[in-house]
Amino acid sequence: MRLSHSYSSIKLFENCPLRYYRQRITKEVDDEGGEASKYGERIHALLENRLKGSGLPTEAAQYEPLCQSVEKLARQGELYIEKELVLNDNLTPTGWWDADAWLRSKLDVLVIVGNDAVVMDWKTGRRNADQFQMQIFAAQVFKHFPEVQRVKTSLVWLKTMEMDTNQYNRSNVNAVWAEIMKRIQRIHDAYEHGNWPARPSGLCRYCPCRHDCDYARV
Ligand code: SF4
Repeated sequence: MRLSHSYSSIKLFENCPLRYYRQRITKEVDDEGGEASKYGERIHALLENRLKGSGLPTEAAQYEPLCQSVEKLARQGELYIEKELVLNDNLTPTGWWDADAWLRSKLDVLVIVGNDAVVMDWKTGRRNADQFQMQIFAAQVFKHFPEVQRVKTSLVWLKTMEMDTNQYNRSNVNAVWAEIMKRIQRIHDAYEHGNWPARPSGLCRYCPCRHDCDYARV
């Protein structure tokens, strides 16, 4: 089996290897997502449509100033919405559905202004300033846009309109790749050794395996 990765799949493995195994290796369970993830998908779709030219409905009207700030920035360069960036395992760009797709990322907002890039990721959940997703996005941008020297990333917490912002420079990207590779290698090691331990936690309550998992924390 050929493994492919994304920020979500790496976090899935790190949160519980057994869940990863059952969802992504045997595929015996399917995660249909709970109310929170469906709400998040709906807000993402509304913001995507707004930035592509539609209006915002009442339930998302409070995000109009945010969208206008993105549009203002985009007037200085090029705006990409829901941009798919994919690498093969030689870290060469490839297509989302291509057989060699190895690391997939979808960026909610990407603006390229000369040698600078701005990445935003909409967050509808509780604030958690885990920058690993942004590290992956920055590393992807450097591979797909050779002219870019700096990537500024922001996790945008839509409930409170707070932001967690970081900047990555091309000269430091090797350290970012080392971190990404180290975490992906743990998945390949688990696959090679058939070692998928359960890691029960508060996340068990959202797990599609919980009804028949001996380790589920309820
Ligand atoms: S119920 Fe908990 S321990 Fe069992 S697979 Fe799911 S996350 Fe892991």
